[in-house]
Amino acid sequence: MADELNPRLASIVTILGERSPKWPALRAAFLVNRKCECCGRRTNLNAHHIKPYHLFPSLELDVSNLLALCEGGPWNCHFLIGHAGKSWKWYHPDPWAAIREARAFLKSMRTNAVR
Ligand SMILES: [Zn+2]
Repeated sequence: MADELNPRLASIVTILGERSPKWPALRAAFLVNRKCECCGRRTNLNAHHIKPYHLFPSLELDVSNLLALCEGGPWNCHFLIGHAGKSWKWYHPDPWAAIREARAFLKSMRTNAVR
């Protein structure tokens, strides 16, 4: 069910549910001066849990478990990279490997672009 919600709504539902009261402030502080680790966008950022909260609740507030990934726009790195483009319940076990591949793909797209 929650995986069918858009990510912003899913985040709100989660906050209203079982999340630590410290999560919203930690999330906001984490995202200050961040950019998407994949595409470099600075807007619509999400603090993605590398090991997801629903499986690893003890890592909810562990900053080393967070990645800044964008949502919306032409890329939805949060969904495509963080959740392997499958479902909000899936997670990529090695998101840095996926990020390296995506960056190489984006670079090749820019290199090969023509007007
Ligand atoms: Zn991105």
